[in-house]
Amino acid sequence: MSKIRIYELAKELNISSKKLIELLLEEFGVKVKNHMSAIEDEDAELIKEFMEESKDKEDKDDEEDGKEDQKNKKPHKHNNKGGNNKEINKKDSKQEKEDSENEDSQESIKIEDTITVKEFSEKIGKPSTEVIKQLIFMGVMAAINQEIDFNTAQKLGEKFDVTVLKEERDVDKEAVEQEDEEDEEINLEKRPPIITVMGHVDHGKTSLLDAIRKSKVTATEAGGITQHIGAYTVNINNEKITFLDTPGHEAFTAMRARGAQITDIVILVVAADDGIMPQTAEAISHCKAADVPMVVAINKIDRPGANVDKVKQELTEYDLVPEDWGGNTICIPVSAHTKEGIDTLLEMVLLTAEMQELKANPHRNAKGTVIEAKLDKGRGAVATLLVQNGTLRVGDSIIVGNTYGRVRALFDDKGKKIKSAGPSIPVEVLGLSEVPAAGDRFHQVKNEKTAREIADKRKQKIREEYLQSTHKVSLENLYNQIKEGKVKELNIIVKADVQGSIEALKQSLQKLSNEEVKVRVIHGAVGAINETDVTLASASNAIIIGFNVRPDVNAQSAAEKEAVDIKTYRVIYNAIEDIKAAMVGMLEPDYKETVLGKAEIRQTYKISNVGTIAGCYVVQGKMVRNSKARVIRDGIVIFESELASLKRFKDDVKEVAEGYECGLSIEKFNDIKEGDIIEDYVMEEVKKKEL
Ligand code: GDP
Ligand code: MG
Repeated sequence: MSKIRIYELAKELNISSKKLIELLLEEFGVKVKNHMSAIEDEDAELIKEFMEESKDKEDKDDEEDGKEDQKNKKPHKHNNKGGNNKEINKKDSKQEKEDSENEDSQESIKIEDTITVKEFSEKIGKPSTEVIKQLIFMGVMAAINQEIDFNTAQKLGEKFDVTVLKEERDVDKEAVEQEDEEDEEINLEKRPPIITVMGHVDHGKTSLLDAIRKSKVTATEAGGITQHIGAYTVNINNEKITFLDTPGHEAFTAMRARGAQITDIVILVVAADDGIMPQTAEAISHCKAADVPMVVAINKIDRPGANVDKVKQELTEYDLVPEDWGGNTICIPVSAHTKEGIDTLLEMVLLTAEMQELKANPHRNAKGTVIEAKLDKGRGAVATLLVQNGTLRVGDSIIVGNTYGRVRALFDDKGKKIKSAGPSIPVEVLGLSEVPAAGDRFHQVKNEKTAREIADKRKQKIREEYLQSTHKVSLENLYNQIKEGKVKELNIIVKADVQGSIEALKQSLQKLSNEEVKVRVIHGAVGAINETDVTLASASNAIIIGFNVRPDVNAQSAAEKEAVDIKTYRVIYNAIEDIKAAMVGMLEPDYKETVLGKAEIRQTYKISNVGTIAGCYVVQGKMVRNSKARVIRDGIVIFESELASLKRFKDDVKEVAEGYECGLSIEKFNDIKEGDIIEDYVMEEVKKKEL
């Protein structure tokens, strides 16, 4: 017996797959998984008959109801009168609430910066003529709809025995709350799905995106084939699909971590000749975590080693059972090279989108997410925004993350100037005051002033948070913290190459204690500065002093993250002097050391008349000829001077980058050993800090 797929039947009946599935469940009690499910031809016939019947009935009903029905429907749909009424009702109840509040606290009202005479009279419950009269007595000529400022309102209030208070507004909350108001069903319209392509490296993500773009961009647009912004929209059977151009799950999850889930459907690319690889598995997990539906594109079917069934088999191990094997994962064999299967893939994407019933309201203020942004020399801040609801137009004022602006120009994905962009459409925007970050949300607000106000507020908040988080002590801010009474004890962790140095440092440092601050060494040990030292310092608000030792890589990054201050010295006297100076606010860091890189010694060669040459591997940063260098053995600095020579094979070179081998020798030092680390660095002059 032959079968028919739901989506095919839906097409025949001229209804959506979703509708058909609902119908099956409601009328026939038949449950199907999705639009790819198949039903028996016989059943399909029954449904068709049912549809015919109900259509006939509907027609008759329509005739009977006649004009009555139309009368009811029309104004509602086109004028949105219903909506207006609701608004008025809402206002009434708000007014009532305010009135009763006024009764409770008799003579006090709250207003914002300004208020119209009319609103003022309403608030105090007096006729506006009386208010205007009082204003005239005060020497203020104001008509009923004119605004008066807060001070005038306050004086005016006195005449009526009403205290006028300032209403503190949270403009940000107001603007965003308004944007987050739900759309009424009647205003919602279908929007294009937003697609991200994921998969293992080299499985053909970029090729597939290119193939789709090239095959779907019409000839007239050919000039614009070159990638313009990080997203593009294609037309398939008169329907649009928007593709995000940043393939990979890192970008996807980074966006999601920032609360911006913008992808509706993921195309998971799996090479037919390679199968599921680590990043494929990761992508699957990321999609599942985000609950985003996947359509699997089994790519490179033109390759000799292609094995579609093997890929399908592997997919089942991740609970993705292909629909032709009885599951509900849609798998489409494709080739980005021959373009085979691409149309089917796009059709399936559209069908999957149909199931999601993606809708938005184009008739409201725009909001959405920043896909990418940069500073352009000629054009200023340029951002690619994805409109997720509403319509963005030239001239609109928007708040974007912590920045804002007025839309000066809009460009579509082909670089063409446009006037507006609706839901699911990516646009390049000019006119922002600063460059926002990818993943930032944007909202349209009523004017530029509001946008700026909100941006300022957000920035201020960040600044406050930042200041709070950096209450940690450092030598640079020690004096201020002492003055502000934030620090009464200076905690220090000492790491050194030998026990003797620790004792010496401990004694001298603790002697620095004065009436205002007590200096305490909370921990001292021999060895490199490690991550545990940083954790301890962070927890006890301490600084770390390294004497002839260096932080290891983990310690360094932990210190940066936790804002722990690490200072390294070679001479005890310098350490003492620095801390002494810091305590009285006289620390003058004239020079700052910048580490350029690290190389590990793999082999040593003794060459007569020259000295010992080290065969090294650059493990971090770079080695630069003539730079200062130190030799570190087991985390301890054993010698400091500079690089005497730097070679790649036989040639002298200026620098050698990370991941490459090099030969080098250290000025005045021949005792290098295998496993030693050579760290090269420069001393940079820094501006004197205001303390
Ligand atoms: P990505 O790392 O996932 O973006 O993969 P790319 O799109 O860069 O493709 C990796 C390699 O596979 C490139 O050399 C492509 O030319 C090749 N490739 C991609 N798709 C196909 C295909 O359908 N057939 C064949 N034969 N090669 C493909
Ligand atoms: Mg790629």
